[in-house]
Amino acid sequence: MEEELKLHKCIICEQEKVFGIMICSEFLCDDCEAEMVRTDVMDARYPFFIHQMNKIWYKQDA
Ligand SMILES: [Zn+2]
Repeated sequence: MEEELKLHKCIICEQEKVFGIMICSEFLCDDCEAEMVRTDVMDARYPFFIHQMNKIWYKQDA
């Protein structure tokens, strides 16, 4: 049986990716997940990740 590879839009990079994880019904691609794990709190990109992740939490209130 052939498994269908579905594309999901990543909440962080906003690109269509096949591999990643679902967080609260939002998709986080493998690349961004790995990037976030590597990113230090002092890293310039950290606020960006937090900002993108906030989109997920805000949707929970809807
Ligand atoms: Zn991504």
